[in-house]
Amino acid sequence: MSFQSLNLPDYLLEALDALSYTQPTKIQEEGIPIVLEGQDLMGEAQTGTGKTAAFALPTIKMLQELPQKKKKTSVLALVLVPTRELALQVSKAFKSYAKYTPRETKVISLIGGEPIEIQIRGLRMGVDIAIATPGRLLDLIEREEIRLYELEILVLDEADKMLDLGFSEELEQVFSKIPEKRQNLLFTATMPEKVEALSVSILKDPTVIRIEEDQASTNIEQRAIEVNEDKKRSLLQHLIKSENWEQTLIFVASKRSARNLAGKLSKNGIKASDFHGDLNQGERSNILNKFKDRKLNILIATDLAARGIDILELSCVINYDLPRSAKDYTHRIGRTGRAGASGVAISFITYETQDHFKLIEERTNNSINREQIPGFEMNGEAPVKVKGEAPKKGKRKSKKDRLKEQKSKGKPSFPYKKMGDDL
Ligand code: AMP
Repeated sequence: MSFQSLNLPDYLLEALDALSYTQPTKIQEEGIPIVLEGQDLMGEAQTGTGKTAAFALPTIKMLQELPQKKKKTSVLALVLVPTRELALQVSKAFKSYAKYTPRETKVISLIGGEPIEIQIRGLRMGVDIAIATPGRLLDLIEREEIRLYELEILVLDEADKMLDLGFSEELEQVFSKIPEKRQNLLFTATMPEKVEALSVSILKDPTVIRIEEDQASTNIEQRAIEVNEDKKRSLLQHLIKSENWEQTLIFVASKRSARNLAGKLSKNGIKASDFHGDLNQGERSNILNKFKDRKLNILIATDLAARGIDILELSCVINYDLPRSAKDYTHRIGRTGRAGASGVAISFITYETQDHFKLIEERTNNSINREQIPGFEMNGEAPVKVKGEAPKKGKRKSKKDRLKEQKSKGKPSFPYKKMGDDL
């Protein structure tokens, strides 16, 4: 299958050629014709499958073919995304695909963390496609600075993440402010009930495309290394020095861990930056650009900040701390092995997290061999922590005893906090 056979115009083929996209990915192959026919679409696909081009290419073509709009400041296509990083990335993709359109295609990002006045100025100068995070969009709607009455296409990207981040009310408000007659495209990596409900409420007779996880991640080699909690950092340093990874993304559980680990690695001569929700937008863009330009090879990130990081040649992802859920695991490892490239995803498994990892394996239909690295083996004696005291060496309690103890303390079985509170 080629892009030509998808009925795309020359100005898009030229742009794809410049980007060295030789053939469509599965979601593009299946999705582009559906969007071009004007149908609503529900795409179950993760980042890395090429979903952005699957909605951006037909959107650009369709907008080019519309008659002249009434007002140059009217938005014709609106893409809602959960994070600022993803908004910038999607805008960049739209701009590169629309580079050669006969009629200029104006793309704008409307995101928090940047002065609203600049975005207002941009909107007043004329716009066709807006990529927005829900909060900032509503702010602009309330100030009557954005015209949505000529809207043709609405895209909800990473809908599951938008709902996880608590944007459902904002989304409802946005839906009430835009024309009812429009084409809707919804993309989500997972299908929890709340996404199902959202899709029922906004999609009209949609065609559903499902890109299975194994189709999305076949290029990713998954490894699981067993190590004691207190040896994780030295193991990481050893791997960074001995393996020849180029761009490495390391996931940790909290902002504090990200800062600590980056600091400690840097002290040991390994240049690394932390990347999380405490950094402002300027700092985040700056670090990300350095990472993309390969001036920085190691990024230590929390789950929230890592959403939307798109670096094609990312060779390695490390779960230094395990993710909370199977969904986050899939999302994290999907940061590597993108669009046909190969990658490795390594998870550090400790005594404390081995049951949790088994659960992730079950839920992702995976079975990953456990490895031990000489010099960093997980030994039979795990430190037992007693609240208020330094860790003592001792025999690990049985799973049954641990669960009993947790239950009596009313604690969840996994030691991390609630989603989104420290990212
Ligand atoms: P996405 O899933 O949209 O975030 O895309 C993941 C990455 O794959 C992005 O860096 C795209 O530029 C790239 N990509 C998308 N489609 C193709 C394609 N057909 N051929 C090569 N690379 C692609």
